[in-house]
Amino acid sequence: MRILIGEVKNHIDSEVEIAGWAQNIRAMSSVLFIEMRDVSGTVQGVLPKKGNESLFNELRTVPRETIISMTGQAVKSQAKIGYEIQIRELKIINMAEAPLPLGVVDKIESDIETRLENRFLDLRRPEILSIFKIQSTISNSIRNYFVEKGFIEIHSPKIVAAATEGGTELFPVKYFERNAYLSQSPQLYKEIMMSAGFDKVFEIAPAFRAEEHNTPRHINEFTSIDMEMSFVDDEVVMDVLENAIKTAYRSVAETNSRELEILKVSRPDLNYKFRRITYSEYVKMANDKGIELKDGDDLSTPVLKTVGGEINEFYFITRWPRDLKPFYVQPYDDKYSRGFDLQFGELEITSGAQRVHSPQVLLDNLKAKGLNPDSFAFYVNAFRYGMPPHAGWAIGLERLTMVLLNISNIRETTLFPRDRTRVTP
Ligand code: ATP
Repeated sequence: MRILIGEVKNHIDSEVEIAGWAQNIRAMSSVLFIEMRDVSGTVQGVLPKKGNESLFNELRTVPRETIISMTGQAVKSQAKIGYEIQIRELKIINMAEAPLPLGVVDKIESDIETRLENRFLDLRRPEILSIFKIQSTISNSIRNYFVEKGFIEIHSPKIVAAATEGGTELFPVKYFERNAYLSQSPQLYKEIMMSAGFDKVFEIAPAFRAEEHNTPRHINEFTSIDMEMSFVDDEVVMDVLENAIKTAYRSVAETNSRELEILKVSRPDLNYKFRRITYSEYVKMANDKGIELKDGDDLSTPVLKTVGGEINEFYFITRWPRDLKPFYVQPYDDKYSRGFDLQFGELEITSGAQRVHSPQVLLDNLKAKGLNPDSFAFYVNAFRYGMPPHAGWAIGLERLTMVLLNISNIRETTLFPRDRTRVTP
């Protein structure tokens, strides 16, 4: 029975069967080394020429990345990892073509476009695979965290009739005789679920944004981890967010030490309370750095770079001006709202808020933002017949992975990124 290459170390001095990619084949005069790789690691198989002449000669010409299976004794050896497999039987299962469009074990760095073009090969590299093993731990641990806390997992529609915020960043789709859009956020639906009485919900699903700009932190399809809770305010959901992120970091430290080592990332340390800086305090911090910024101005990328760039940890920016937040954000007073962002340094990771629960305030806000209440009737209706106060947030899985692994381009933390120019593979 096949075992994973990573398990061979537990079977020294026994016979093992492995299968995978032959990432390198080196033929000496009397012996041949085959470096084998699978999802769990690498190991070398050794085949003496004597007694295996025809197989030996065939293997000399087998291209890299051919799928091979082998059976043999696992023995301690001089190999770098301390053991190897003495091949008794070997099967060439599926021959790779040569040359490879992208090297898997080569030391030369290819540019990102070539790598994305040949992503299936790029993903074979242990350091790239490690990013996605860690991303899997992040999303699983956050899912488990929600389930343990009694949240209900939901799946809201991704084909929708109206924009979440009336923005223009929508991908239109033809929906029979009508126009529809790809969902940019489950915001309206997760709020409707509060009216439906589900109390606490979460969703991990794609969100689509037709943003035209190409930046290192935007993609046009990302994975949004969304949550919404009833009868709580913004402060409570900020606590939940802090705990969810700490849980994810702990899980990665516990489960992915090998991947962190491959990526040369130190074990993440989150032994601090996430600071809560009000928007107005942030403006003052910017002013103290000589930036001209008035209370009420948006925090532009250069501002976040200058002020946030020095804060090398997670922190919240709270109490945003109402004018800078969407219509569904609960007012704090006449000027400020109960909307918040979570930042890591200069990068926004999450936005969240306590939401409006009064249908009248909602209608007033829609009008004040120049949106047509009729387009939102299906949503506002859910507020008319008993809507609890509620709050929630959305975090981008790819951005959280960037922060955890100190990666600066979001394309690196997305399996098959969709950006302004790329829809394949
Ligand atoms: P930004 O200001 O960075 O464009 P946003 O204000 O549009 O983000 P929200 O709509 O508040 O973001 O979405 C919540 C979270 O979803 C963000 O904090 C981020 O983690 C993620 N996110 C939003 N847009 C994108 C995108 N285009 N690509 C990747 N992640 C995104």
